[in-house]
Amino acid sequence: MYIPYGRQSIDEEDINAVVQVLRSDYLTTGPAVAAFEKKVADYVGAKYAVAVSNGTAALHVACLAAGIGKGDEVITTPITFAASANCVLYCGGTPVFADIDEQTYNIDPAEIKKKITSRTKALIPVHYTGQPCDMDEIMKIAREHDLLVIEDGAHALGAVYKGKRIGSIADMTCFSFHPVKPITTGEGGMIVTDNEELYRRLVLYRSHGITRDQGLMQEYQDREQNSDVPEIAAAAEMLQGDVKDPGGWYYQQLELGYNYRITDIACALGASQMNKLDGFLKRRREIAARYDEAFKNIQQIQIPRQQEGCESGWHLYMIQSLKRDRRKVFDGLRKEGIGVNVHYIPVYRHPYYQRNGYAGVCCPKAEKYYERAISLPIHPQLTEKQQDYVIDQVICEFTK
Ligand SMILES: *Cc1c(COP(=O)(O)O)cnc(C)c1O
Repeated sequence: MYIPYGRQSIDEEDINAVVQVLRSDYLTTGPAVAAFEKKVADYVGAKYAVAVSNGTAALHVACLAAGIGKGDEVITTPITFAASANCVLYCGGTPVFADIDEQTYNIDPAEIKKKITSRTKALIPVHYTGQPCDMDEIMKIAREHDLLVIEDGAHALGAVYKGKRIGSIADMTCFSFHPVKPITTGEGGMIVTDNEELYRRLVLYRSHGITRDQGLMQEYQDREQNSDVPEIAAAAEMLQGDVKDPGGWYYQQLELGYNYRITDIACALGASQMNKLDGFLKRRREIAARYDEAFKNIQQIQIPRQQEGCESGWHLYMIQSLKRDRRKVFDGLRKEGIGVNVHYIPVYRHPYYQRNGYAGVCCPKAEKYYERAISLPIHPQLTEKQQDYVIDQVICEFTK
């Protein structure tokens, strides 16, 4: 028996939804994509949604839409999956790591303030484990310094911050639909926003920077015709006829975008999974509550602390080893067939970051957390019996 830390929950309804698309006319860029986007946007309370091929692509196009480029700094947390910072590097920008809050393991707004410079352009808070960051404080800092906020909500679809769902607070929020995440499409991601301008840029970057939208072509046309560079203005002038009266074949590439499209097959699965999200979340909360109850009086274990007024999505259940060597506990539990893990190695510790300017970077609270952290299995398929086994083994390992 091996109990993984996370896994998907797929039922017959999900399978039928996928099969239906396979029998239909569209496998990609079809109606299932738009239907899935609407479902997620409505659920989180956002105006617009753009589905993409994975969560990393979502972060990348969000950074592109935010205009991140060379010389720009973007502040994020070191306790996250590498993609939260890599997306900034893809755009030529510089990720800057701000230390975490010891209680919540989320990025600490006070640490964000210390890292702001004249080059800071955006913030990427990560709702780590599914627990919402201190968004009031983060949005306040962002407004004061004129920064865009891109939430990495890969863990947090369905999480609630002071009565608002994650996805309805910042400028953009990115989700991932990898199999261990709150819902899955196999591979998939999405960006939600209330800002129409950002939405249009996200759509553009998702598919090569190409558009057939006459209004958008005209907008670029007008801007370029007024360019100070005579060659640009002249080139725009030349295209005027095409933009005014485009033929049925006509399209333009306005930016350097990517192929980050997602299939209708994946989106049909996603829409079907959305019907079950509340049930998944309920089950995750039950599991977390049972772990809390089982470990709260074990002094060798620190259970995860929750912020008032928030509901975590409980993507991960992290404990910290206070007395025993983490490595011993980890190896012991793995040997018993429990798929414990460590989320995450501070991003700046990876060799790529070390040899690209981060060798001197150290976030002491993140380091301390990383030394002690262990993630326990939590996912909707985990049975009570399996959880009891995990609990017994964890207590046994920690009290040896
Ligand atoms: C999973 C994850 C991502 C990336 O999502 P993919 O769909 O795997 O590309 C980004 N950030 C965090 C915090 C994640 O957990």
